[in-house]
Amino acid sequence: MLLLVTILTASAIAYNLNPTKGVNLIAVQTTDAQTGAEAHVINPLLVRWEGPYGGVPPFDRVQVAQFKPALEAGMAKNLAEVERIAKDPAAPTFENTITEMERTGQMLDRVQTIYGVFGATMNGPEFQAVQREMAPRLAAFGDQITQNVALFKRIEAVYNSSEKARLTSEQQRLSWLYYTNFVRSGARLGADDKSRLSQINQKLARLYTRFSQNVLAEEDGQFITLKSDAELAGLPQSVRDAAAAAAATKKQTGAWVIMNTRSSIDPFLTYSDRRDLREKAWRMFVNRGDNGNEHDNNAIITEILQLRAERARLLGYPTHAHWRLENAMAKTPEHAMELMEQVWKPAVTRVHEEVADMQALADKMPDKEGAKIKIEPWDYRYYAEKVRKARYDLDQNEVKQYLQLEKLREGIFWVAGELFNFNFTPATNVPVVHPDVRVWEVTDKTTKRHIGLWYFDPYARAGKRSGAWMNAYRSQERVNGEITTIVSNNANFVKGKPGEPLLISWDDAQTMFHEFGHALHGLNSNVTYPSLSGTAVARDYVEFPSQLLEHWLSTPEVLQRFAVHYQTGKPIPQTLVDRIKRAETFNEGFITVEYLAAALVDMKLHLASDQKIDADAFEKTTLAELGMPHEIVMRHRTPQFMHVFSSDSYSAGYYSYLWSDLLTADAYGAFVEGGGPYDHKIAERLRKYIFSVGNMVDPAEAYRSFRGRDPRVEALMKKRGFSTTNGK
Ligand SMILES: [Zn+2]
Repeated sequence: MLLLVTILTASAIAYNLNPTKGVNLIAVQTTDAQTGAEAHVINPLLVRWEGPYGGVPPFDRVQVAQFKPALEAGMAKNLAEVERIAKDPAAPTFENTITEMERTGQMLDRVQTIYGVFGATMNGPEFQAVQREMAPRLAAFGDQITQNVALFKRIEAVYNSSEKARLTSEQQRLSWLYYTNFVRSGARLGADDKSRLSQINQKLARLYTRFSQNVLAEEDGQFITLKSDAELAGLPQSVRDAAAAAAATKKQTGAWVIMNTRSSIDPFLTYSDRRDLREKAWRMFVNRGDNGNEHDNNAIITEILQLRAERARLLGYPTHAHWRLENAMAKTPEHAMELMEQVWKPAVTRVHEEVADMQALADKMPDKEGAKIKIEPWDYRYYAEKVRKARYDLDQNEVKQYLQLEKLREGIFWVAGELFNFNFTPATNVPVVHPDVRVWEVTDKTTKRHIGLWYFDPYARAGKRSGAWMNAYRSQERVNGEITTIVSNNANFVKGKPGEPLLISWDDAQTMFHEFGHALHGLNSNVTYPSLSGTAVARDYVEFPSQLLEHWLSTPEVLQRFAVHYQTGKPIPQTLVDRIKRAETFNEGFITVEYLAAALVDMKLHLASDQKIDADAFEKTTLAELGMPHEIVMRHRTPQFMHVFSSDSYSAGYYSYLWSDLLTADAYGAFVEGGGPYDHKIAERLRKYIFSVGNMVDPAEAYRSFRGRDPRVEALMKKRGFSTTNGK
């Protein structure tokens, strides 16, 4: 199973989620960046989306120079809209306050959607300059709304009104969400505290941008050049091809390049026979942002943590973690810690077993000089692969022959058809941000009703962030008309040779199902209000639908139809499937510990109150106290922990993947106990209670409606092959 290569880039600002409708074509004067002259042209970012499917993003017409004026115009318009609501002479009602708020910010939301897509997939020096300037201004803008006294008074009045009892449960939840979001953002503070809070938020926005750009610079600027066959020893052809392609982008002729990104480093550490080069690659990767150079993130982290602690105190919370978790499913850091600690000990025990197995194997394979080696962190993936082969006769490269990217894409479409009655057809009349992006229309198989659009951006390119993620370009809702969903899935596969199928690993196939799970969460949305739509749920709940979908990859139906050999077209043999199944919990000690170490350090950093923290020292001490196995390093070391320091979104929230997996493991049991993974009755319950409700329902309640009870930890432990009683 694969936990963390994913980031969900759903917008987190409640009042900022409303998409299109009701906005007329607005001509805005933009200043030409080159000449400084006023150019009377229409900025395409500000125009209501045109074209088929209720309008689509104008990716083909956007230029980086248009972002700043568009963001400025969007913010100004949004502030004017909000001011109108705040100054409404009529007494506050749900309709004239909350519903009206749901109608504001549509123009800015459209701009920010495309701004976000460029930031994640078309980034470069020109764009980074815009980010550096606009990040603090966007933060200040957000505060201007949540600190609007008259507006908050109206929201508070609606929330406390006796009218509330007559509202639908969705409206009641939305009132609560507005009220609580405003309070949590400082709406109740005095003027001085508000101004300090806004200062803090702007400083943080600046620091987050610098943190991200530093990590990007180290990933882009550092690499290892391999110059001879001897340096390629052990690497399979696919890794060599990727390294050759990387060499071309880095202008290293006649050489191969291992980039400083996970998708380049992990396969190298798994296969390279050259222990010296493995160590070199490992050190380069784990030291991103920690090299004492101009891209060092340590001082930035200290400052971020202090500002977060001060902000939490201002807002009346003991720590940043308490503030972040209040509205999460876990509710308190203590609950999250309890789950993590429950899993930590058996996972560490398993690591010691895994290391013993690897050491036994390594003892039989002395190095070239005949010396015995002791397993070090740069050896883990390499020897784990050797143990996997010896014990389960399972070779990842053998499995890969059956995993073609495009066939698996057909597989996820088929699963969506079985579970949710969706049909996918190519939409070729839609502009895309890059020629690699393809779009499909999603319809209901029976009624042919249009459901939404799915954009697929699978390949790595310069300026695209690493990893895989889902993004919502437009959320389903009804306040502004029948608005349908637009979602995208993004990955970083290295493009194959033209005409040849792209083969991917089992882990990557799982990631595809995972991200598609997020997309289905968006596409199934059936709510009225945009702020409650699709994936706009608690951070520790949002990975539940996506992790759940991973289970369908290994169903016989998918494997027989879609896991077919790239040359013979024959389905993956049952004997190989059996070997995959037998090896299912193999290396789970490593996977769990590298993840949990990062999640625990994240939480402890944010429970440490406002002491001045030296990230490296804190990491070292905390891991020593936890009994971190020497052979493993955190999946994201602090100076490169983008989840936690590139924004607030996963801060004190990296535990979310484990929390969601608790639900995932337990929920899949409903299918196992029922008629199997394609039991239509259970799939319908899944749609009804989980995938369609967005944030209309409290997540714990939604889960109980689906499962008939609360989740049990036993399923999680079983899924990972751990015993529930500490020890084996
Ligand atoms: Zn995810």
